[in-house]
Amino acid sequence: MSFLTHLECAACGRRLDPDRPWQLCPACDHPLLARYDLALLGRRIPLGNLERRPPGLWRYRELLPLREPARAVSLGEGATALLQVPRLAERMGVPGLLVKDEGTLPTGTFKARGAAVGVSRAVELGVRTLALPTAGNAGAAWAAYGARAGLEVVVVMPETTPSVIRREAAACGADVYLVPGSIADAAAVVRDGCRRHGWYDASTLQEPYRIEGKKTMGFELVDQLGWRLPDVIVYPTGGGVGLIGMWKGFQELRALGWLPASSPLPRFVAAQSAGCAPVVRAFASHAERTQPWEDPATFAAGLRVPKPLGDFLILRALRESAGTAVAVPDETIAATMELAGATEGMVVCPEGAAALAAAERLRRDGWITDDQTVAVFNTGTGLLYEDSLPGRAPRGLRAGEGLPSPDAWAARGLRGIGGGGRELPT
Ligand SMILES: *Cc1c(COP(=O)(O)O)cnc(C)c1O
Ligand SMILES: [Zn+2]
Repeated sequence: MSFLTHLECAACGRRLDPDRPWQLCPACDHPLLARYDLALLGRRIPLGNLERRPPGLWRYRELLPLREPARAVSLGEGATALLQVPRLAERMGVPGLLVKDEGTLPTGTFKARGAAVGVSRAVELGVRTLALPTAGNAGAAWAAYGARAGLEVVVVMPETTPSVIRREAAACGADVYLVPGSIADAAAVVRDGCRRHGWYDASTLQEPYRIEGKKTMGFELVDQLGWRLPDVIVYPTGGGVGLIGMWKGFQELRALGWLPASSPLPRFVAAQSAGCAPVVRAFASHAERTQPWEDPATFAAGLRVPKPLGDFLILRALRESAGTAVAVPDETIAATMELAGATEGMVVCPEGAAALAAAERLRRDGWITDDQTVAVFNTGTGLLYEDSLPGRAPRGLRAGEGLPSPDAWAARGLRGIGGGGRELPT
């Protein structure tokens, strides 16, 4: 059964019937959030019940909005690994580092969580065609889950979106359109299409259920930590839905008593690229909203969001959790991708690398201390970003040419971890 009771406007508090396909609050145009009867849930479902279920997104189904979880649209969203990364932690100087690696989810990113729940709920609400603007990965995920549910999906993305991601969405049968500019320009196209064709607008926070899927990142994290919170969560922030979702989810767990009501929330860190850092700028200037970032430019496509719709919620989560926001230059993101691959065999996405680099910076500045548990989200696999993958180009061997002799091999000084060398000796 579902414990969903109503939708509530995040700004004006208006309550709405959750079984109608709402978009933004009809009174004030702000995002709607799903609310549950947590008191009843707490009486009916002991935590022990959950722990007997297989790990994965649907383990937390009572805290999700589906009326019939048995009919969920699923591609097998298993729990993602929470990895200790000792070599990387040592190189970065962050002893308490843990990486939650979302790259193993269907479609290759955590966007699968939002799409699994969002599409499932859209089906329950009778939606036939949904449309969304995307920096890339959300389009691929909604295309995949939409296909799985038999829905029509229209995706509009910037023409600079990495090609594998564009083709991933197309491979799932979506109508994919490319526009010049950023996700903000794609959003204008989608708004117009929704108005003219009656499509359901599945943009970030324009429908209330994507965030419900994303909050399961936080549930899974505390579950894997033995129902304890980490001290710090570093999250690569574009639209900020994952961050807001986890913040909302932790409050639900506290209200249920599954986390002690007295336990302080983790300090949330929003990591952004220096090429598009509206949240960092607003946080630093004590503003409640962001100002649109002019000419957003970064190869971390998921962070190229010039003005997040939920900015006031992101900033509130950062401040209420005594968190912060950090901008990382693209060169540092690239170097961190290389370091994660070489030290741990993790091909992280640029967004995840930005979060890792932010943790490193905060440790260096003393904001993070050695005894703190620091959970960093790698939100997707780097394999989607073919043109940005680090590492030396493999060396071709001509016919008849063998590998270097043992002497030459020894002399060329193979790079060891900690060596820091980058060039292959000729
Ligand atoms: C979308 C995306 C982000 C940003 O996610 P939000 O929750 O919208 O801030 C980060 N990383 C990747 C790989 C993404 O696709
Ligand atoms: Zn409102």
